[in-house]
Amino acid sequence: MLQESPYQNFIGGRFADTGDDAIDVFNPATQERLESVPDSSADTVDRAVHAARTAQADWERLPPIARARHLRAISAKLRENVDELAKIISREQGKILPLAQVEVEFTADYIDYMAEWARRIEGEVISSDRPGESIFLHRKAIGVVAGIIPWNFPLFLIARKMAPALVTGNTIVVKSSEETPLNAFAFSKLVAETDLPPGVFNHISGTGSGPGAALSRHPDVDLISFTGSVETGLRIMQAAAANLTRVNLELGGKAPAIVLADADLGLAAKAVYDSRMTNTGQLCNCAERVYVERRIADEFVDRLAQLMRDTRYGDPLSNEDLDMGPLVNEVGLKKVAGMVERAKGDGATVVVGGGPADVPRGHHYQPTILTDCRADMEIMRKEIFGPVLPIQAVDSVDEAIALANDSEYGLTSSIFTNDLSTAMRATRELRFGETYINREHFEAMQGFHAGRRKSGIGGADGKHGLYEYTETQIVYMQHG
Ligand code: NAD
Repeated sequence: MLQESPYQNFIGGRFADTGDDAIDVFNPATQERLESVPDSSADTVDRAVHAARTAQADWERLPPIARARHLRAISAKLRENVDELAKIISREQGKILPLAQVEVEFTADYIDYMAEWARRIEGEVISSDRPGESIFLHRKAIGVVAGIIPWNFPLFLIARKMAPALVTGNTIVVKSSEETPLNAFAFSKLVAETDLPPGVFNHISGTGSGPGAALSRHPDVDLISFTGSVETGLRIMQAAAANLTRVNLELGGKAPAIVLADADLGLAAKAVYDSRMTNTGQLCNCAERVYVERRIADEFVDRLAQLMRDTRYGDPLSNEDLDMGPLVNEVGLKKVAGMVERAKGDGATVVVGGGPADVPRGHHYQPTILTDCRADMEIMRKEIFGPVLPIQAVDSVDEAIALANDSEYGLTSSIFTNDLSTAMRATRELRFGETYINREHFEAMQGFHAGRRKSGIGGADGKHGLYEYTETQIVYMQHG
């Protein structure tokens, strides 16, 4: 039973009682305490990094296709346990069960997708200036990767770091989020049931200031692959700088959605709704602000408001017919509530919602639409990470693009229009890592998910994401 996973760190292929302090894990829908898990010490971090280092050279010596077979054994285990894993995720993170099931299936697909790259990791042959010489560019593993992950798609984010790292010959230490470690213990249990060599995958639990910081400053880590907030990304980069450790940072977003008068408004309203409400608005590429052309603003807001009013929310494990669960914790709830209150004070109008939900227990917030928002308001500039959509009316596509680009974030963006020239112009002018045209914000595993400005450094997914886990070696061979 995965629900009874050992809540012990997984180091060197074994679950070990590392004697660390404990932290509690809660169900955000009920506020019930679920389990206690280790808050791993610096010594435990050191053991895990050592295990990963010890395993790395032999792992890299395996042909990539052999490494891919190990990955496929893990994805097969995930597929055998979709329902149980989904319940664990839903219980600790609060997402609705169908979405948790999608997360588990997508995670298995993602691992298989990265395994497919085994036969396609390419080097280059480069022409030489000398007779009788060949120049080769090889792609090699970087070494030991530290994967530090957030709570919003906790199982998927383990795979997003582990699968490209392992297929390219690296080993990894994953630190799960203190909010959602239970799925990572279950995942480790499934890994332990395969014959993955010890030390190739390691998991430690605990806080950011504890094991997170210890991993970031560890001198024997070669790459820190981090997903989380901008503030933490900055701290990790500072800690990594002491050892000149490489970083790959997937940080926050403030994605604009631009809705023009010629758009299919039904499609736009549904896509913006889906982009905002998935996972209760706790998704880095969620639509976080809307710029709508003034002459269709009322009709668009009416359509969106209807979808928001019809949203069913509550405890995902006591009611299966829900669209949305709670926010992950009290800090998240207070942050969203505070931002909406300040927006109201700054002149925003509440069309739907506007406050915490009337649910007896848990961190629930009402689906909310705010209009009359302006570019200088905090709600249009800072990441909300909740089910709240602030909307600003604009007079032209130029104004919308200028406002969209005026942001410290640069992860995703979208535009809704039926005019091909306008769509193409927007793709040229929107300065974001991703732009969606006439569809919801949700990336594909074969794309490249990479933020500009403070949304990150480097990226994930696809060929470009895979190669972030490699470094090059140029070989000059004189043979003539
Ligand atoms: P967070 O930054 O608070 O925590 C993320 C992880 O970092 C956790 O494991 C935490 O324990 C750890 N951590 C915290 N302080 C640390 C420190 N000083 N040193 C090392 N590790 C530390 O983020 P969160 O609240 O878990 O996640 C939400 C954020 O993640 C949002 O901003 C969201 O946009 C972002 N996110 C980005 C992407 C992306 O692909 N760009 C994807 C998902 C989430």
